[in-house]
Amino acid sequence: MSKQAISFYESVNLNFDKAAQLVDLPKGLLEQIKVCNAVYQMKFPVKVGNQIKVIEAYRVQHSHHRLPTKGGIRYSTHVNQDEVMALAALMTYKCAIVDVPFGGAKGGVKINPMKFNERQLESVTRRYTTELIRKNFIGPGIDVPAPDYGTGPREMAWILDTYLTFKNGELDFAGCVTGKPIGQNGIRGRVEATGRGVYYGLREVLNHESDMREIGLTRGMAGKTMVIQGLGNVGSNAGLISQNEGDAKIIAVSEYEGAVYSEKGINVEKLIKFRNQTGSVIGFPGTKTLPSREAALELECDILVPAALESVIHKENAHRIKAKIIGEAANGPITFEAEQILLDKGVLIIPDMYINAGGVTVSYFEWLKNLSHMRFGRIEKRFNENTYQSLVGVIEKLTGKTIGEKEKRLVTRGADEIDLVRSGLEETMVEAYNQIRLIGKRRKRIKDLRTAAFVSALDKVGSDYLNLGVFP
Ligand code: NAD
Repeated sequence: MSKQAISFYESVNLNFDKAAQLVDLPKGLLEQIKVCNAVYQMKFPVKVGNQIKVIEAYRVQHSHHRLPTKGGIRYSTHVNQDEVMALAALMTYKCAIVDVPFGGAKGGVKINPMKFNERQLESVTRRYTTELIRKNFIGPGIDVPAPDYGTGPREMAWILDTYLTFKNGELDFAGCVTGKPIGQNGIRGRVEATGRGVYYGLREVLNHESDMREIGLTRGMAGKTMVIQGLGNVGSNAGLISQNEGDAKIIAVSEYEGAVYSEKGINVEKLIKFRNQTGSVIGFPGTKTLPSREAALELECDILVPAALESVIHKENAHRIKAKIIGEAANGPITFEAEQILLDKGVLIIPDMYINAGGVTVSYFEWLKNLSHMRFGRIEKRFNENTYQSLVGVIEKLTGKTIGEKEKRLVTRGADEIDLVRSGLEETMVEAYNQIRLIGKRRKRIKDLRTAAFVSALDKVGSDYLNLGVFP
């Protein structure tokens, strides 16, 4: 199909070039920022049933300007070197945008995880980790993987255990991977983090009344219609939280097996349960089935959230997209060619490297927790509660009035780990959006948010390089 005319990595680099013309950095430095610093392609054998299968896998470290490098591991049959390089590059820019002090990286294993049983997946994951250890491509100060498409806390636990087997006694071993189960040095709030970040980001975008007026929308998320593609980790959490906390109306959900629609809105929580029980979104009560899974992308809606894979909006279908806002929860869902078509139509595109940065932000918190060897909130929670209780006592004494038990509990509560993680994530997403938005408003030649986000990233990575004095 002609949508493959430009590869994912080329698409990322074309966007880079567009922004590079607008920043004041030496040409050679821009070239250094753009290229992948280290690409490791590996092939290893794994026994699957009676057969020995040769598995193709990658780890790409895009930028060493800050260490460790950081990025998820993807399990998918679509994995190839171009894709992993593109995803690693996006990680560098993403980390810079949300002020997470890492270089970008990404990993990929070319398998269909649905066709492997749990034991086989464990063998693949442990062998992949061993290959990374052999080449010094993993470690708390070197390169720190995390979950991505097709992987989750279970795989991260296997990575941790394999790492520990080889590096027994290393004090900070738990920081070698993030997205781990909570009982195994993980952090509360990591599973929901990318989806929650998408919600905080969209909410902030929608809160700017003048920007919304320009695209014919009112301020705020409540009542806005939303279409979601992909009900995996990112899509399901983005949908659930936008519905429960933002009062968005989810009118359609597209999954691998097809797409469902309801004008009245779909209860995402119930849909997820239904899919877990039946294996499909099709037949969910109160919905009608769309002709194809791709048809959902072309529905009239306020917000479209592609949360599956890259290049799903391409030059063939871009003309038919009717959404006013697209929040790129997935990495690279819009090709370079499609972007121009959408911008000409006046669609507001919230770029992946900003809107899905919640995952790496909370991974950063997890890494910090692992290095500090202590849960966030442990030291100050009781102290704060005692102080607030004393304050309430003083207020009651001075006013002669008694504060109700429920209100008292609310105002005297000290923060738990999950409260602090969500608060840090919210602050990060709000702050980063306003930085990007201001760059877009102040620099006249910048016409879209992706270019503004790139400019923000290039300014930060460029100044890191210059401050490091790495060019003798
Ligand atoms: P996931 O594997 O948990 O879920 C992806 C879902 O998309 C699956 O349920 C799959 O069946 C569905 N899907 C695949 N092809 C589809 C299609 N053509 N139409 C509709 N549905 C389809 O993966 P995830 O972790 O949610 O990642 C999704 C995207 O978000 C990826 O682009 C990933 O790189 C990006 N992302 C993930 C994270 C993270 O923390 N997991 C962070 C940042 C970005």
